[in-house]
Order: sequence, then structure tokens, then C-alpha cells
Amino acid sequence: MRYQSQRIAQIPPYMFAEFNKKKRMMQEAGIDVIDLGIGDPDLPTPQHIIDKLVEETADPQNLKYPSFIGCTDFRKAVAAFYQRQFHVELDPETEVLALIGSKEGLAHLVPTVIDPGETVLAPDPGYPPYRMAISLAGGQLYPMPLLEKNNFEPEFQNIPENTAAKAKLMFLNYPGNPTAATVDVDFFRKAVSFAKQHKIVIAHDAAYNMVTFDGYQAPSILQAEGAKEVAVEFGSLSKTYSMTGWRIGYAVGNKEVLRALSTYKSNTDTGQFTPIQKAAAHALTASQESIKTSNEIYAERMKAMTAALKTIGVNTGRTRGTFFIWAPVPDGYTSAEFADRVLEKTGVIITPGHAFGAAGEGYFRLSLSVPTARLTEAINRMKKELTIMTN
Ligand SMILES: *Cc1c(COP(=O)(O)O)cnc(C)c1O
Repeated sequence: MRYQSQRIAQIPPYMFAEFNKKKRMMQEAGIDVIDLGIGDPDLPTPQHIIDKLVEETADPQNLKYPSFIGCTDFRKAVAAFYQRQFHVELDPETEVLALIGSKEGLAHLVPTVIDPGETVLAPDPGYPPYRMAISLAGGQLYPMPLLEKNNFEPEFQNIPENTAAKAKLMFLNYPGNPTAATVDVDFFRKAVSFAKQHKIVIAHDAAYNMVTFDGYQAPSILQAEGAKEVAVEFGSLSKTYSMTGWRIGYAVGNKEVLRALSTYKSNTDTGQFTPIQKAAAHALTASQESIKTSNEIYAERMKAMTAALKTIGVNTGRTRGTFFIWAPVPDGYTSAEFADRVLEKTGVIITPGHAFGAAGEGYFRLSLSVPTARLTEAINRMKKELTIMTN
């Protein structure tokens, strides 16, 4: 009797399992563990969005099966958001698709676009669901190394000609997780031109498109001329409005890809609960004041943590987006050794860079999505216990 497919069996054991065990043991020993490994906003969803959800649940029409592509209000709200934020025009009927969180769409996109054995380009380090989805779809992963000296942008010219010729799909993600790198439209122009030349579909993951500061505004890939011919962009309410548990996101851009993704989805899920979609539509079109407030909080935390890391000899580049710090581990440590050392010495959990791909080795990721008081406590412990690392 076999209970799982080869594809499931080959998924590596959960990489944080070992770490979680250590965390539990320390907690049982009475140590106050601070987890800077998670990427889930600590800030609450704005009340007006919750109120809208409650209001919409009162309408019996909203409690029936939702429409496959998403309710009209939500698709129109996404189009209005793109017009307002990026000056990009979208047809809500054909160029916007509702998702049950953007991770759902990113994962289902792979078997939508590729057949088993086909090649997919993905950033390394990158958000783990890309490579998991590629593996589950029987695809061939080609990792594109993101190097600091290139602003964590892939070097398209270094992708071998025969790989580029075979590739069917490419993932990109800016502002980036885990690198926190940001780009300008010019980078997207290069990506679109490369994709057109090699007939590759681009999936741009824009989960952090509104988590920006220092006057920086993240561009949409759809601002690059001709992007709609090859690109889809994935957006999410999760990080922007602290709505991770609500599971609502969207894909926009190329209609052929969206129609195909909608075919895949209509045979595997039946869309998100309509009141959630309507509350999300309200979030996108009502006052955006909460974004300003949350970004100010992240920027403050970023400043405090960056300064603290400096005192222990860790220098991070300028960060203009996401709530992550991506930094090199001090000399003489691997990522895993450094993360272990920090946990043992301070009770603070950080994520070793190799968890995001081989090219993440030598780095660690730290998330600022914990209450400021906890972050301050983490900072104080690190300053006190880790100064030795500068030696
Ligand atoms: C959090 C995150 C997502 C997932 O967002 P959901 O819409 O909640 O599924 C997608 N991509 C990246 C890079 C993320 O960090």
C-alpha cells in the first residue's frame, strides 16, 4: 500500500522543524523566546475593513457560492487601485482574477503554464512556495542567483541560451522576500524584454508592493511597455492591510494566462467567501491612511534594528520596502551556525539564509513584524550578548 505520490514524498522535511524543536525546548526551560522568523504582521486589520466584512455577511446573497473569477466589486476595486497607484489600466472582466491569497495563485500558476519536465526560472534566495510548486508540478527548477553586488537582481544575460530557450515561466519578486531588495521600472523593462525574446511567461509577486518607505514607491511590472503580452502580477491584501488570515489576493495582467489560471482554479476551488472579497474591495478603495501608519511603524523598527545590528558588526544595505532585514552573517559562521548562536545566546529566532535557497547561504533574515516592545527587547539582548561577534 502506498499512501503518497513520489512528488509528495520528495518534499524535504519542513526545514524549520529542527528549529521549532529547539524553540520549544528553550521555552520549556523558561526562556522567553522572541521569534523574528515569521513574516506575519503583528498590527491589527483596520477596524473599518472588519466592519465591512460583518455588514456584508448579513446579505444572504453573499453566502452562496462565489463567482469563479471573483465578485465584480473586488475586480473593479483592484482595477481602480492599479489606475490610482500605477496609472495602469486593467479590464476588470478579463485582466483581474481573485485569488484565495496570492500564494494559492502563485502555486496553481505553475501547472497552469508548464507541463511536466519543463523549465521554470525562480529567484534564489526566494519565497519557498515557488520551488515547491515547481516540484509538485513536475517542473525543472533553474535557480537565478540574486547577488548583493547586483542589487539582488537576476543577471538575465548569465542564463544559458539553451535554458532560456526551454524556460516557460519565470518568477520575480520585488520588493523582495527575503532580500528586501527594491527595483525601478527599468529593471522590469529588462525582464519583459528578456521574456519576450525567449517566450517566457513572467509571474511577478508583488506581495509587498505597498509596504514601502523613505519616499519609495514600488512600481508594477505592468508599467513596463508591453508587459501585458508576457506578464502577470500577483498582489495581496495580506501585508498591506495586515490581513494574512483573510486569504485574499489577486492576479492581474495577461488575459490568456489569467483565463488558463481561472480554468485550473474553477476545477480545484470555488473562490473566496464573497463578504471577504467585498471587504477587500472596500479596503482597496476606502481611506488608505492605515498603510501610512503601518509603514511608519515598520520604518521606525527598521531603523532601530539596523542600528543595533551595526553595533554587533552586521551591516545591512538601505532598505526601502518589506518588513524584513536581509544581512550577511559575521565572518566565521555559516547561516545555520549564526542562527543557532543567536538563538542560544539571546533567545531570538532569526531565519538562516539557506532556507530560501542555496544562494541564501551566508545571510540571515530577520522579520520586523513583531510588537515594537518585543523588538526592542530583542535588540537589547543582541547588543548585550552578541558584541563578541565583531571580533
Ligand atoms: C506573504 C507572501 C506571499 C503570500 O501572501 P498571501 O496573499 O497571504 O498568500 C506571497 N509572496 C511573498 C513573497 C510573501 O512574502
